[in-house]
Amino acid sequence: MRIAVNAGHGPKDNGLYDPGAVGPSGLLEAEQNLKVAKSLLAKLQAVNWACLLIHDGDLDDVIKKNNTWGASYFISIHANAATNPRARGVETYAWLPGGQAEKLALVIQKELVSKTGQVDRGVKFANFRVLKYTNCPAVLVEAGFISNPETESLMREGAFAEKVAQAIFNGLLKICNK
Ligand SMILES: [Zn+2]
Repeated sequence: MRIAVNAGHGPKDNGLYDPGAVGPSGLLEAEQNLKVAKSLLAKLQAVNWACLLIHDGDLDDVIKKNNTWGASYFISIHANAATNPRARGVETYAWLPGGQAEKLALVIQKELVSKTGQVDRGVKFANFRVLKYTNCPAVLVEAGFISNPETESLMREGAFAEKVAQAIFNGLLKICNK
């Protein structure tokens, strides 16, 4: 298995840095995403799965790196944001229903809810470029609302990122060992 792990947002070709969403006390989504991604990578490496970390603020580069490397599965890690500070919960996206990406999204979502105890916002479908143009089953995880002060402070504790990474890892194991 070759797993591409994309920490959403980050350094851009034009020299700028795309922070993603910014929490009420200043936590950057890109940093949170990277923390989760690194934890997931460590778990994948521990079972000797080939994995590639993609931390790039340019979506075309993310897609190109995934496709050039030839990933079996692509996982994009993000944190959610809303204008309502009470918005909370976790959700997982696939491009289209009915395929392997939806299957993976369903098991990851279930694991995410049980590991983090966050509200279950379900599996959703969206025309995101990283889901549509990556040439393997691809899912995007919105691992909590960084705009929610309570969730943001949870994110500042390492345990939350660790739980999210464990949930994604468990989901991958379930799908890939079939
Ligand atoms: Zn994001």
